[in-house]
This record gives sequence, structure tokens and C-alpha cells, in this order.
Amino acid sequence: MPLLKIARMGHPILRSVARPVVDPTDAAVRQLIADMRTTLADAEGVGLAAPQVHAGLRVILYRVPGARSTDGTAVPETVLINPVVEPIGTDTEVGWEGCLSIPGLRGCVPRPARIRYTGLDAEGRQVEGEAGGFHARVIQHEVDHLDGILYLDRMPDLRLLSFEDQWRHLLATGPAAPPAG
Ligand code: ZN
Repeated sequence: MPLLKIARMGHPILRSVARPVVDPTDAAVRQLIADMRTTLADAEGVGLAAPQVHAGLRVILYRVPGARSTDGTAVPETVLINPVVEPIGTDTEVGWEGCLSIPGLRGCVPRPARIRYTGLDAEGRQVEGEAGGFHARVIQHEVDHLDGILYLDRMPDLRLLSFEDQWRHLLATGPAAPPAG
């Protein structure tokens, strides 16, 4: 299973709207997911969307480390195909985000605090759930990639954008730190 090259900001694939997957069990889709798993593990990230590896399909992969979740519960590596997200209620939350396509930076991004999501798993079965906290954040960040949106687009205050090696100055005033998505 080869490592895939990760597209970095400026590449047009990151600004394109990805296509829905027609058959999740298609061999090429299975291979893509396997390669995304290898690539995400190698990059030590928490999330990866297919456009980030130059594939214009609506596939995301993510995990929530226990230390990052609101209640301490880890979410194992999860594949969502053709995901759809809708906010629950009107509460928003700010949190730090990073992105494997924007290496070296962290930014503070407001997002809906709770979401409902639906999609298909890697076997093509319908899945649905609700998420809050970092779980909701990582799903929204990855689904944004499928629509050509980067977290920077969601930042109302670019003063809360920082290089990783300068981040400690902002952490004193902002919310706690996540790994890259
Ligand atoms: Zn990203």
C-alpha cells in the first residue's frame, strides 16, 4: 500500500468540489481508502480527505484521540463516504485546527458545536450519528475539503493564525491544542 502525496494549499484539487462515490465497494475506491489509511498514519494526522491525496471523490478518514475528545472517549479510525453534515442547534465553538495541506500553521476556527452526520462506511452500509467537541470539528474540517473549503476560509480573525513554533504565545489566550487534520 503506497504512501500518497499530500496536496498542499495552492494546488487546484484543494479548491475543487469532489464527486460522490457511486460504488463504495469498487476496487479502486477500496484501494484509495487503504492508501489513505497508510498516508494518514504516516503523517500522524487525525483526518484526511480524498482531495488532499489528489482524488476528487467524497471520501474522508478521521480518528479522535482520547485526549482530544470532550468526554475522553476515543473514536477509532473511521471512513465516511458521501458524508452529509448538518448542525444541531445554533451553538458554535472555537477551536484550534491544523491541516496536512497547510503544514506548519495552526488557526482558531469557529464551527457549529454539535452536528448530525450521515454517510456510507467502507462496506457501503448507511451510517449516521451525532458528534460534539473535537469529533464534530474534525468531521466538519474534512467534509469542507470535499467542497474545496480550507479552514483558513472559516477564520474571522487572522490574528489567531500562527506558525507552530510561535503557537505557544497564542495558546496562553486561546483554547487547547489539537493535532493536524
Ligand atoms: Zn485539512
